[in-house]
Amino acid sequence: MYETAPEGPSVGEAHRLRAVDAEAAERAVGDLLAALGADISRDGLRDTPRRMAAAYADLLSPAPFDLTTFPNDDGYDELVVVRDVPLHSLCMHHLLPFHGVAHVGYLPGERILGLSKLARVIDRFARDLQLQERLTKQVAGWLQEKLEPKGVGVVIEAEHLCMSMRGVQKPGARTVTSALHGLVRDDARTRQEFLALTGASR
Ligand code: ZN
Repeated sequence: MYETAPEGPSVGEAHRLRAVDAEAAERAVGDLLAALGADISRDGLRDTPRRMAAAYADLLSPAPFDLTTFPNDDGYDELVVVRDVPLHSLCMHHLLPFHGVAHVGYLPGERILGLSKLARVIDRFARDLQLQERLTKQVAGWLQEKLEPKGVGVVIEAEHLCMSMRGVQKPGARTVTSALHGLVRDDARTRQEFLALTGASR
């Protein structure tokens, strides 16, 4: 069984455990490959069901995540933006990867967040069966809820292999999604600044 470890106590929320039945997954992958016409007794394929089940279990299990916030003692009141956070996830419609970068920013209120944590929030939601739109909203909503900043902005640019590998769209084409909250959405100057910092307005 693969299970994601419980989150740190500082998060203060019930963790949604994903329990993976590794043996059932392995059997199912074998059945899938056989149904797709593959001979899974062949040398190179013999161990594929186990490897593939383990790979998906890994891709769907976020690392334990401890949200450490700090008091904003210096009263920092400008945007904090982390750009180009590498991102990969699995499209829930095809179980094929989509990958790209996320730009995450917030306008601090009473609390600030470690910069590496800002990037880890992406991973927490990306290791799931996802839609890019949903992932973008979840990251922004989570930061808004947990950090209670004056504003939040999330922009994700990603290439979806279910599109680029199947010829619907040219390889390399990127889908851009954004979710803005608070002053990042409502204040024109802040919004403009965030979009300029993320390069999303180019
Ligand atoms: Zn897809």
